[in-house]
Amino acid sequence: MRVVLLGPPGAGKGTQAQLIAEQLGVPAISTGDIFRANVSGQTELGQKAKAYMDAGDLVPDEITVAMVKDRLAEPDAEEGFLLDGFPRTISQAEQLRSSLGELGQSLDRVIELVVDEDELVRRLSGRRMLVDGEMVQRDDDKPETVRHRLGVYREQTAPLSGFYDSEGRLSRIDAIGSVEEVTARAMKALGVDKPGQSSSD
Ligand code: AMP
Repeated sequence: MRVVLLGPPGAGKGTQAQLIAEQLGVPAISTGDIFRANVSGQTELGQKAKAYMDAGDLVPDEITVAMVKDRLAEPDAEEGFLLDGFPRTISQAEQLRSSLGELGQSLDRVIELVVDEDELVRRLSGRRMLVDGEMVQRDDDKPETVRHRLGVYREQTAPLSGFYDSEGRLSRIDAIGSVEEVTARAMKALGVDKPGQSSSD
């Protein structure tokens, strides 16, 4: 199954991506994670991406799309994948559609996690991640950057909801609730009732 997980920063995409991908038996591919690994590893890609990430801006499409194409060409993504944090612009979505089209593939479903903005700000300001055994705040989770990232989402990424809805592929799900409840809503939207089994089987 080929799935995109859409939703604003703080909606719980990373957590849900891992859980949903595990249940579907496909790799979870997070562009944010790939960028962060490249920044820590001080690779050329990381050096190009860092300033945009620190500012809470999107990394330019040409860098991001090339990176995703490479990742999707790896053998583990052949039978399916769950994309977390990509696409984030209409142009990225169009390029994803044409790259998949060249392989005779298409997306099966786009799941949008819906959370209101006050809740997002609350979640992001309190969010911490584990780095070298310590809980730290991501640089781009600082309050001013959070507000900027939400603005970027509203302007550049939110239009994807209409884009995928018009293709008939969108399921919007309420992302307020326990982690398990949200995963269950996503699996239902994907038509999968039990781990690894499709309801149409
Ligand atoms: P995330 O972990 O998904 O919130 O991503 C962290 C940061 O990585 C974003 O604020 C962007 O700077 C960059 N990034 C991740 N995915 C994309 C994408 N699809 N297009 C452009 N920039 C991205």
